[in-house]
Amino acid sequence: MHYHHLDLEQNKIPLPVGKIVCIGRNYIEHAKELHNPVPDCPLLFMKPSTALTPFSKPISAQTLGYCVHYELEIAVLIGEVLKNASKSQVVPAIAGIGLALDLTLRDLQNELKAEGYPWEKAKGFDNSCPISPFYVQKDIHLNQLNLQLSINDEVRQQGQTQNMMVDIISLIQYVSSHFTLLPGDTLLTGTPAGVGALSPQDKLTASLDSLITVKTSVI
Ligand code: ZN
Repeated sequence: MHYHHLDLEQNKIPLPVGKIVCIGRNYIEHAKELHNPVPDCPLLFMKPSTALTPFSKPISAQTLGYCVHYELEIAVLIGEVLKNASKSQVVPAIAGIGLALDLTLRDLQNELKAEGYPWEKAKGFDNSCPISPFYVQKDIHLNQLNLQLSINDEVRQQGQTQNMMVDIISLIQYVSSHFTLLPGDTLLTGTPAGVGALSPQDKLTASLDSLITVKTSVI
């Protein structure tokens, strides 16, 4: 596994590559579009470190015979050990903010869901987490971030962190009450409405305000 966390200047961030903890249904409009009930506490699942791949690396439209669907999410890189963390412990433990795609084999996920089985085969496959370089400055207003995904110059997803059901700091606290977070772990914080399937030749552009803009394509 040759993935390393990078900053926006393409420098390697001196942290190991760890687990990826993902949050489901954290934007109400997205939960509704998939006809999922809105959960009363964050829904958690994980991807292995082998899911990480640079954002700009072309994405396959098909994996294991299933169509690959996109979900743009804000990624938070953890820089310190967090276990049952308080709010005041979480803020200094954030090493960077980035963008990630939570690539999903939606049809397989629906098959697994219908059987009551775990989702990992639909969510944790190799390269299922393209991730941008991280913005590592400490001056981020976590509750005022805007993310956007365009495909072929058409806006497909737009989200504001102020519309999250659970804000980023509280999410990290919640996750740390279930799984110890280690330096180099990443949190994916949920996707806004507008998810869908990728097609060969699609060109994707994702942005986080004016902090991060990343592009990739589908093969
Ligand atoms: Zn997701």
